[in-house]
Amino acid sequence: MKNRLLNGLDQMGLGGLGEKDIFANELEENAKNVRTVAKEEKEQEKSEVDFVYGKVYRCPVCNHEFKALRVKAAKPRLLSTDPDLRPVYQYLDVNKYDCVACEKCGYASLSGSFDKISDAQIKSIRNQISKNFKGISPAGDKYTYDEAILRCQLALANAMVKFTRTSEKAWICLKLAWLYRGKRLELIAAESNRFKELYEAEMQYIKKAVEGFKVARMKEHFPIVGMDEWTFDFLMAELLLETNEVQEAKRLVSNMIVSRQCPSRIKDKARDLRDYIRESVEGE
Ligand SMILES: [Zn+2]
Repeated sequence: MKNRLLNGLDQMGLGGLGEKDIFANELEENAKNVRTVAKEEKEQEKSEVDFVYGKVYRCPVCNHEFKALRVKAAKPRLLSTDPDLRPVYQYLDVNKYDCVACEKCGYASLSGSFDKISDAQIKSIRNQISKNFKGISPAGDKYTYDEAILRCQLALANAMVKFTRTSEKAWICLKLAWLYRGKRLELIAAESNRFKELYEAEMQYIKKAVEGFKVARMKEHFPIVGMDEWTFDFLMAELLLETNEVQEAKRLVSNMIVSRQCPSRIKDKARDLRDYIRESVEGE
């Protein structure tokens, strides 16, 4: 995991400071290096672009030569199939690569039937599609869901103009449904990653705060950042719980409860926290 504690500094031109460790702690530096290596290893994993290639097509309608992205013969692993037959593969959604579209004239179809077209159908496509078609931009090294949906919708429009069988048009509709489902699931996954990322960032700061407060407790005199000893210790106990250092949190809480100096309002909160630890943390 990258050190994100000061990542907001980058945009203010202070990125160099963000590289430094807040407490200049050598141990933390070492741990960071270990994490960086782990991250690099993970990045060598395969991704969508490893499984697709640009196949050359010649358009039967306008004779334009172009490349459409197709899934390689060595497909990734099939993970599951939805009840309505949508296949779910590892690393990529193969459904994005089912339709082939000529970017120049707008002719498109399911990849298997791209060349299966009669002269009458060509004429009809030229009249009803190509004449008004403004062109679409070529994709990069993979299709986004929007690019795939566009190509599939174009295939559906062509199927209508070509008077293809109803079943083929229905099949393209199902493919479009699968693409919208894929897009929806990708959004949900992205959101949950975002949640995880935010949570990790939060915990990274909490761990750093605990680390710094531990040192401050030993080296500084109260009040520390405006807090008396008891308020400080209570905060520490809460933070220690968040970083899963339960025993240390319990020790602080017990000290507060038995201490003669600890004010009763903090003692009450300490007792509540002790009960919480017993019931919710240790009781699990
Ligand atoms: Zn064409």
